[in-house]
Amino acid sequence: MDISPHTQGGGLVDRFDRVATDLRVSLTDRCNLRCEYCMPPEGLEWMPTDEVLTDDEVCRLIAIAVQHLGVTEVRFTGGEPLVRRGLVDIVRRTTALEPRPKTALTTNALGLHRTAGALREAGLDRVNASLDTIRPETFAQITLRDRLGDVLRGLEAAKEHGLTPVKINAVLLRGVNDGQAAELLRWAIDHDYELRFIEQMPLDAQHHWRRDTMVTADEIFGHLEGEFVLTPADEDRGSAPAERFLVDGGPATVGVIASVTRPFCGDCDRVRLTADGQVRNCLFAREESDLRTPLRDGADDAEIAARWRAAVASKRPGHGIDNPKFLQPTRPMSAIGG
Ligand code: SF4
Repeated sequence: MDISPHTQGGGLVDRFDRVATDLRVSLTDRCNLRCEYCMPPEGLEWMPTDEVLTDDEVCRLIAIAVQHLGVTEVRFTGGEPLVRRGLVDIVRRTTALEPRPKTALTTNALGLHRTAGALREAGLDRVNASLDTIRPETFAQITLRDRLGDVLRGLEAAKEHGLTPVKINAVLLRGVNDGQAAELLRWAIDHDYELRFIEQMPLDAQHHWRRDTMVTADEIFGHLEGEFVLTPADEDRGSAPAERFLVDGGPATVGVIASVTRPFCGDCDRVRLTADGQVRNCLFAREESDLRTPLRDGADDAEIAARWRAAVASKRPGHGIDNPKFLQPTRPMSAIGG
């Protein structure tokens, strides 16, 4: 085991002195949509149940991260976290921790109208939802499910229950919904949602991603500036993935997350835990560190924490997508989480 200074006591510090304080916890690799930029129509072979961390195991690892490793934010992701039966209780046990971490949920909002109240009561702070269009036919084309109405109901419920700001993440696909960017922004402003456009990333299970077909940040601005005046928001971006812009002088804003063409790895404060107990120190990591085995073999919190520190210490400078040697991770986005 690596015993360099970074791994002895303290937080999750990498060799570039970036400190990971934002933990993304994937609670499942399963999902009830089939977004074409994520997985094939038939879905994927889901993780065997006995490989997925139990609720107790997830909560113990989150407690170690918050109480021993300096994690201050916990975001629950998937697959689709709303399909995880124990979600509300996991949220409740996380927000009961001292110090209390900020919590968020990244979801496709299907079924959120049923659980928003319970999640709020359990202490969840806010929601990020994925939505690429407000046209039912385009929604069905991208996700292979005719469920736009349910998603919109879920978003309304999130707002009603105070899981705010409700942030919307949208991916533009060339020739599919890229012409709907301005319409989507107008709708988000009218409904008081914070919209962010995300460049499609090479994380699809099918490995169909191509740089030349991806809609770039510059093209996104091009689609918006035909209808809106965008000015950079006067704020310290810090480690936030989104560049934010005032729309027509504000107060409405729009964000652009340009992971590929404008990477923001230099200030990255994120670390990920997969549903099967692996630490990923980067979304595009090709190596993972196993915490599930030592956890089930009886390791104590100090040993788990030391392994976690070692996993982050070896983090690469960035995703390397522009490197000709770049290799897409074998684990798909649906098993890593947002
Ligand atoms: S690509 Fe990796 S290093 Fe870069 S911002 Fe994302 S998680 Fe951080």
